[in-house]
Amino acid sequence: MRLRFAPSPTGYLHVGGARTALFNWLLARQSGGAFLLRIEDTDRNRSRPEHVDAILNGLMWLGIGWDEEPVHQADGLERHRSDAMRLLDAGRAYRDFTTQAEFARARDDAVEAGTGTVARLSRELAARVPPDEGRRRAEAGEAFAVRFLVPDGVTVWDDLVHGATRFDNGQIDDFVILRSDGTPTYNLAVVSDDADMEITHVVRGDDHISNTPKQILLYEALGEDVPAFGHLPMILGPDGKRLSKRHGAQAVGAFRDEGILPEAMVNFLALLGWSPGTDEELLSGGELVERFSLERVLKKGAVFDQAKLLWMNGQYIARMDPAEIAATLRGVLADEGIRDSKLDLPEHAFLRMAAALAPRSRTFVEMAALSRPYIGPVRDYNPKAARKAWYRDRDGAAAVLRAIRDRLASARWEESTLAEELRGLAAERGVGAGKIFQPLRLALTGVPASPGIFDVLLILGRERSIRRTERAIQHIGTTG
Ligand code: GLU
Repeated sequence: MRLRFAPSPTGYLHVGGARTALFNWLLARQSGGAFLLRIEDTDRNRSRPEHVDAILNGLMWLGIGWDEEPVHQADGLERHRSDAMRLLDAGRAYRDFTTQAEFARARDDAVEAGTGTVARLSRELAARVPPDEGRRRAEAGEAFAVRFLVPDGVTVWDDLVHGATRFDNGQIDDFVILRSDGTPTYNLAVVSDDADMEITHVVRGDDHISNTPKQILLYEALGEDVPAFGHLPMILGPDGKRLSKRHGAQAVGAFRDEGILPEAMVNFLALLGWSPGTDEELLSGGELVERFSLERVLKKGAVFDQAKLLWMNGQYIARMDPAEIAATLRGVLADEGIRDSKLDLPEHAFLRMAAALAPRSRTFVEMAALSRPYIGPVRDYNPKAARKAWYRDRDGAAAVLRAIRDRLASARWEESTLAEELRGLAAERGVGAGKIFQPLRLALTGVPASPGIFDVLLILGRERSIRRTERAIQHIGTTG
């Protein structure tokens, strides 16, 4: 199998493009075939080199590697033109000198006369210029478009996703293959390039399905082998409409910046329109290569569920080993400007923190935010939590924190002893453990939710824990 991904570099690599690339890549890897890239950069006004870079970087980040040098469609211009001329010479295409204004006028007339169909209008208009005259005018340098002469009949193919698919050729306008400025249109360029690259399977979005009969007709007219076609369901937002910027992040790079892991993104993309046939949701790249099949691609739209992506990412984080979690977190913190030298935490404590925060984080960006009270000072206390845990009974809260401080000062610094001490304190005072842990948690982290309190103590160490407790006692006595 020779497959390809053919992005137009008019924007970043978005979710839909990444999914198309992934499905093609999975099929190529599974079959031992080739996965090729073609940059469709013939639209000079909208194509940008920075978009090419963003697309290639996005693919590399996902681990979707390509075979052979990427092809640039613009390099094929001469071949596109000569293919158009070949069709012209063979009588499968014709010159059209009709101007846009003439065409618009004729179309309005046809609509007014109620003839109903305009599908063959361009053919009728062009026929007013006999071939000999056309050749003469062309030789004299007059500009003309080349239109494909759509044959009668039906065009049928066995779509790899949708099954037998047919289009009545009578509904297909004689489409332009070469514009009057000598540039090829999308359908001609794609067929010419796919044939040249010996593509055997064209797998792309459903939005291209109406192009496929035109392309099949072009292959046949050019005498080329027709590849197999499969069309993937559109990706929809939660509102059932086609996924767009309205629905939030769409560029693959934005997901990376939000802290999504490439493995999770690949897993998530694979399930956008495909299912393994079981209720398994976590599948590694290797498992995907092994199990992917177009037969299991859905025909209807696939809904993009951001919450599921975050959940999945959390699952991937939970499966990483602690050293890897710590290293990744360091990287994210460094990206946020917090280098190792600025971390107020020794190595073993950082490791413990990363392991404790991992199950509470869906992304490393969330983890970096949660790590703030440990890697640096507590700057303020969550007001709602402070009202509840401290201000309702200031004297009581201060007394509890003083008792805690005394125990922290003398206890052996290990989880079991700390637990004994703090639970003992709760029992002595006749209160639930939460009445001890919660005022302390707030003192140590400034927030009402954190990993287990003993983890927090062990991460911060004795000295800092006592200092923070004392600062909270002072705060309770001097505010309000
Ligand atoms: N360049 C086209 C696009 O970005 C894809 C062409 C194709 O896959 O045939 O939609």
